[in-house]
Amino acid sequence: MPIRTTATQQHSDVIVIGGGISGMATAHTLADAGLTVTVLEAKDRVGGRTHTDAGFAGGALDHGGMYIGTTHHRSRALGESLGLESVVARPSGNMVFRVGGEVVEAPDSDYPAALRGVEDLHAKMTEAYGKIDALAKRVGSEGPWDTAEDAALDAITVASWLRDNVADDVVRRLVAADINILVGGDTTELSMLFWLQYVAKCEDMHALQVTANHSLWVGGSQQISQRIAERTDIEVVVGAPVAEVVYGDADVTVFSTAGTFTATYAVIAVPPSAANAIRFNPPLPLPRRQLQARAPMGREVKVQVRYPSQFWVQDGKSGEIFDLDLEYLSLDATRPGDELATIVAFIGGGGYDRWYALGEERRRQAMLDSLVAALGPQAAVPCVYHETDWPSIEFTMGAPVTVMPPGLLSVTGAALTAPVGPLRFAGTEAAPMWTGYMEGGVQAGEEAARSIIEAHAAANVEVSA
Ligand SMILES: Cc1cc2nc3c(=O)[nH]c(=O)nc-3n(C[C@H](O)[C@H](O)[C@H](O)COP(=O)(O)OP(=O)(O)OC[C@H]3O[C@@H](n4cnc5c(N)ncnc54)[C@H](O)[C@@H]3O)c2cc1C
Repeated sequence: MPIRTTATQQHSDVIVIGGGISGMATAHTLADAGLTVTVLEAKDRVGGRTHTDAGFAGGALDHGGMYIGTTHHRSRALGESLGLESVVARPSGNMVFRVGGEVVEAPDSDYPAALRGVEDLHAKMTEAYGKIDALAKRVGSEGPWDTAEDAALDAITVASWLRDNVADDVVRRLVAADINILVGGDTTELSMLFWLQYVAKCEDMHALQVTANHSLWVGGSQQISQRIAERTDIEVVVGAPVAEVVYGDADVTVFSTAGTFTATYAVIAVPPSAANAIRFNPPLPLPRRQLQARAPMGREVKVQVRYPSQFWVQDGKSGEIFDLDLEYLSLDATRPGDELATIVAFIGGGGYDRWYALGEERRRQAMLDSLVAALGPQAAVPCVYHETDWPSIEFTMGAPVTVMPPGLLSVTGAALTAPVGPLRFAGTEAAPMWTGYMEGGVQAGEEAARSIIEAHAAANVEVSA
């Protein structure tokens, strides 16, 4: 069934709201089990936070989610079952740090021994991340994060924890910038409990910093959603923002600009802030409403700079740069076979605010100056300079993931996944592991589908008994 802007069927077993990788994985699993599914997607395309421009100069360009981690088993299996191939990304070589104008190299994905007069920087960075890992292990990935200890961690921001636990100013600023980039929220706004459960859900700091960025899909990551949308037994309606969901014990009516749809179940596969723009009748339980009203998307820009060759690799560098002056982290995002080589840089949280305040011309120049300082004079003349500003993209309005201020997770954590009557919640924010990543989106989608398949089977047994 090709992607449509109008629906052919008004009733199905399940309506999936949101055609990102999570909603599409939900639909895929449900259709495999023989249930009828309609996906309603607000944008004019599927894929959500994965968006590939296949015809971009020099090779396919991923505007959003891109890297596959070594332990992203379920999304990898899904992509491979759809016929996609992956390639290992990130050439080995030295990483470059720039702090206060000083440029220092470090071994692959590691910290320099000394920087800006801090002699034992490596040991101090390892100690700071070690403290975060130990606390994350205690907080855990499963929740519901409502003990007294959890509440105490939820009462402080990451910035205040860093102030009390990381003495060195340079180390503290490096760790803070790293967190800002990883989730797109600023440490001055993020709950420490939220950050710790995020680390626990993504295994540990090493996994977040290194193994999460292991490989890339040939041709781009949006293809996963696009290939599922090609299934003839799933109806996908795009340009169909959902405005209202009316639900009873075992029936759902969904109102969108593409029409009114009914089903036995609905899966809400949109981030909490997007769900907050939908009217639910009857209103959702209070914790879920609080979650949706108070948890925004992070803010992040993705800058991609393309060159005729990976000249940095010949110089023994990996293309990974941590620039504390411009507050970005870059990686090499070149795929074998690309006509141009790509450096991709991420700027998030308060760094994003400062980046935008520079204005378009100064931003470009500041990025190129930084790349020249880190990689050499050849970086001054790119073939392509491109920014994807996710906070201004309608129906997503941020990147890469939902973030939480103090006082929210300990009170509403369980509401991330708790079913409400015939409603289930998916989206990477509802993932058991790897929340914030494509893997989390697939996990959450498959879990939501499985819950419906079980409920559907149980209801059929009751009817036939
Ligand atoms: C810049 C950036 C870089 C990233 N890098 C990586 C990476 O390297 N590796 C990785 O694994 N992950 C990465 N991610 C994260 C990854 O892309 C996301 O975790 C994942 O794509 C989320 O999928 P989802 O389906 O849960 O949500 P989404 O993709 O947000 O899908 C939700 C869908 O719901 C739709 N929607 C919203 N409101 C409505 C409505 N009212 N009615 C109907 N539809 C609606 C939206 O348009 C959207 O299509 C990155 C994300 C960004 C933005």
